[in-house]
Amino acid sequence: MPVKKPVPKRPAQKSPPVPQPQPVSGPCPDDPEEQVGFCSLIEKLKKDIRRHMFAFLGKDIARAGIHDYYKALAYTMRERMAEHWIRTQRSYYDASAKRVYYLSLEFLVGRSLKNNVLCLGLEDQVREALAEMGQDFEEVAETEWDAGLGNGGLGRLASCYLDSLATLKIPAYGYGIRYEYGIFHQSIQDGWQVERPDNWLRFGNPWEYDRAGYLYPVQFGGEVRAYTDEQGRLRAVWEGGEKVMAMAYDMMVPGYQNGNVINMRLWSAKSSRDFDLEFFNSGAYLRAIEDKAKSENISKVLYPTDSFVEGQELRLKQQYFFVAATFQDITRRHLKHHQGFDELPDLVAVQLNDTHPAIAIPELMRILLDEHLLPWEKAWEICVGTFAYTNHTVMPEALEHWPVDLMTRVLPRHMQIIFEINRRFLDEVRKRYPGDDERLRRLSLISEDYGKRVRMANLAVLGSHSVNGVSALHTDILKNSTFRDFAELFPERFNNKTNGVTPRRWLRQCNPGLAELIAEGIGHGFVTDLSRLEGLKPLAADAEFRARWGKVKHKNKQRLAEYVLYKLDRKLDPDSLFDVQVKRIHEYKRQLLNVLHVVSLYDDLRSGRLGRDIVPRTVIFGGKAAPGYRMAKLIIRLIHAVSDAVAREPKCQGQLAVAFLPNYCVSNAEKIIPGAELSEQISLAGTEASGTGNMKFSLNGALTIGTLDGANVEIRERVGAENFFLFGLTTPEAGALKARGYNPWEYYQKDETLHRVLDLVASGHFSPLQPDLFRPVVDSLLKDGDRWMLLADFRSYVEAQKQVARLYRSSELWLEKSILNTAGMGYFSSDRAVAEYARDIWGVGV
Ligand SMILES: *Cc1c(COP(=O)(O)O)cnc(C)c1O
Repeated sequence: MPVKKPVPKRPAQKSPPVPQPQPVSGPCPDDPEEQVGFCSLIEKLKKDIRRHMFAFLGKDIARAGIHDYYKALAYTMRERMAEHWIRTQRSYYDASAKRVYYLSLEFLVGRSLKNNVLCLGLEDQVREALAEMGQDFEEVAETEWDAGLGNGGLGRLASCYLDSLATLKIPAYGYGIRYEYGIFHQSIQDGWQVERPDNWLRFGNPWEYDRAGYLYPVQFGGEVRAYTDEQGRLRAVWEGGEKVMAMAYDMMVPGYQNGNVINMRLWSAKSSRDFDLEFFNSGAYLRAIEDKAKSENISKVLYPTDSFVEGQELRLKQQYFFVAATFQDITRRHLKHHQGFDELPDLVAVQLNDTHPAIAIPELMRILLDEHLLPWEKAWEICVGTFAYTNHTVMPEALEHWPVDLMTRVLPRHMQIIFEINRRFLDEVRKRYPGDDERLRRLSLISEDYGKRVRMANLAVLGSHSVNGVSALHTDILKNSTFRDFAELFPERFNNKTNGVTPRRWLRQCNPGLAELIAEGIGHGFVTDLSRLEGLKPLAADAEFRARWGKVKHKNKQRLAEYVLYKLDRKLDPDSLFDVQVKRIHEYKRQLLNVLHVVSLYDDLRSGRLGRDIVPRTVIFGGKAAPGYRMAKLIIRLIHAVSDAVAREPKCQGQLAVAFLPNYCVSNAEKIIPGAELSEQISLAGTEASGTGNMKFSLNGALTIGTLDGANVEIRERVGAENFFLFGLTTPEAGALKARGYNPWEYYQKDETLHRVLDLVASGHFSPLQPDLFRPVVDSLLKDGDRWMLLADFRSYVEAQKQVARLYRSSELWLEKSILNTAGMGYFSSDRAVAEYARDIWGVGV
């Protein structure tokens, strides 16, 4: 961690002793041994920035603005990464290594400049070079637009894993879609969420290379023709329909200061008409241009729903477009050096990030059967050996079920193959469990519940040699409930890979103050070996270290307060407890439970009821609601209404404040998390598969108030139960209560505080001009069964919050626990997670 690395001195004399090559067409080498005379690294960086300003941007440096500096610097870094990248790619060929393909419809990349500079080990030099050019590195980095090609946790996980794959030097590729519009930009008007398109490519993307040479056709629709081949075997070909071209764009992902760079290849849809000479003569020019626009829609926009499926035809087309292009690329690369596919599982591992790319299973079958004429059994063995599936949710509304008629229309051959996979599978099941029709119904790839549909999760489980959950608890639920019948048939397939986050972005880069203090205590090694954080444990008992820890946290809170002042024009008190819940807005994540607690504090304060259990508190919310999710949007509206009421109440001044930070995204997370003291991880037990936000907070020294859900369970075990505020039902308790017949009214009637709080929200107190505005919120709890059991957990949550307040008043104790949180988080590095995937699933060494 080069915070304290000496900056190379600039030489006194500027004229070179020997003639220097003029580096107009390439960078000066950064290798210190090759540095001669005046050509110091900083001089070279400045020269390269100027060269790119001129050659790529066509800008006179005298007229360059801050965004020009950002772009010229980005090109300067990209060029250095490209050298590493080419060397990395060659090493794969030399070693004929097994390759890992990480397939994900989402990559929530965020900004790249700071990360790439850090990974190249050029932080101090870049800062100095820019300073000498009159620019501030932080300000330049702030001008970068987030690459928001994902919704939330699942997409961010994919980006953390690419970072770790590069850092661990695993021969890997990320594959995804280059959406023209990423996750929408959220702003707030009158307390309501307003979405605006995220036109992230408007000013160009300096990190990507377009690869017009890697262009593949992707087919939709048409029909399947059966024929008999020379050997008398029944064969199928898929013919006709429409064709769309997939064009590759590459973004390099550097490892941490290890000279290794891997590739994320994103596909963009281009009309096949562009490449079709015929249409120039066909006379149907305007029609052709219309068709062109239509086919290019495929990669136009990211679907903005998290943990919820829409079932749109365009989404299915996105999935197949992505998979078809990726597999043409994979098979091309494979066949360059190998004959046939028998060895594919020894040379290629494909990890499916959720079922979004699961159409890859019938696609590989189609390639092997129809294009390479393999027998069914062999093709299936290759498929199962190649694929591995990561499940991310057990909630029914998030499981993909494509209608059979839609799939027959869009992908007729794949539908046939899925039916045949199912037929053979169910024959086997019938042999093993004769007469057990219920079991057949549960295992079938086709459900009949709402018309015939393909159960993509069942397909993914059947077509993979590995099925993993993303936390210990989640994997237990998969084995014992969601995929119970499959686990009985294929127990060896199921395994757990608890999620992790990259310590580069989520500690070293976003919290340099804390990272430096940690490094002073235990050295820099934790950046690539997070388990070393363990070494902080004794320092938690050191009063001086605690004081310095407290200072860093306070600085981070001030920085966050400055950001809020700038964004919302609101002053936050940096001496109050910063209590933070930032994540997608979803009922199962229970932001509403947090709001109900805030309302209870507000009501206690204004009626003078509170005694010693209150401590000045700033409650910060952030998160996007899916544009069609009415309840989630109403909860955002309620947060604003409560925030206003609290701000207007004289008795709350200096005691309580509520702020909603708009447009929660990776770059905002990097500002918020280092300043958080209390992390709200309050989903109903059994609903959050893992969570990764929970890890980022604890890693940065926040204490968690949380349920025994997802990875919270493991975080609590590792940081120590005494350093974690636990509340709420366990998963089995919640299940048993539901089974007995959960009645939210009982809690409403028994708990006086809860009664008062719900009545206040229902009464229109927070929306006097529209008294019924928040009625649906209360109805969801009292009339519609309270699906996420907020009322059952309310009392226990309020009691845990009282403990939070009590502990916060003993600041030494709080700081000790804060340090112990960071110290216990070594396990939650994405390096550990990826190393486990490599060892247990992919069979590649690290
Ligand atoms: C980490 C992260 C998430 C995931 O947060 P959870 O609390 O695990 O849901 C979502 N969005 C962004 C921008 C993140 O950085």
